Amino acid sequence: MMNQTFSIIKPDATKRNITGSINKVIEESGLRIIAQKRIKLSTKQAESFYSVHKERPFFRDLVQYMCSEPVVVQVLSGENCVEKYRSIMGATNPENADKGTIRKLFALNVQENSVHGSDSEKNAKIEISFFFQNEEIVG
Ligand code: ADP
Ligand code: MG
Repeated sequence: MMNQTFSIIKPDATKRNITGSINKVIEESGLRIIAQKRIKLSTKQAESFYSVHKERPFFRDLVQYMCSEPVVVQVLSGENCVEKYRSIMGATNPENADKGTIRKLFALNVQENSVHGSDSEKNAKIEISFFFQNEEIVG
């Protein structure tokens, strides 16, 4: 089924000027980047986006990191997009990520792991609408 997912190229990647390298992996996988913008998250936005993790010990650090440099927020589309993007991203901790995945190729550590991808169809819809108006998603 054709669907959409939400992606973030995270601060460690924008800082190292590797957003194009990451987009190349995304596009070579067959997924399409159908909306994209470079923004700086506010603390409020980052707290709200990651609110499911607010009780986790790494929450404060995560919010601070996500606001430390610009991020690139994206909408991706393709067949089984949510699952497919999770699989090309690789495991949260790059030490556990499979060869050829974005996190294996580029992530620095479990926090600075270069990309975010929605974990379900439902969250993809919520996360896309958090950052994009319908008219910004041009296909
Ligand atoms: P994923 O991004 O793979 O869905 P989670 O939703 O579990 O992973 O975590 C959200 C983000 O929080 C991770 O991508 C990473 O940046 C950070 N994070 C997760 N676990 C840890 C940890 N143990 N220590 C530090 N940061 C973490
Ligand atoms: Mg997650």
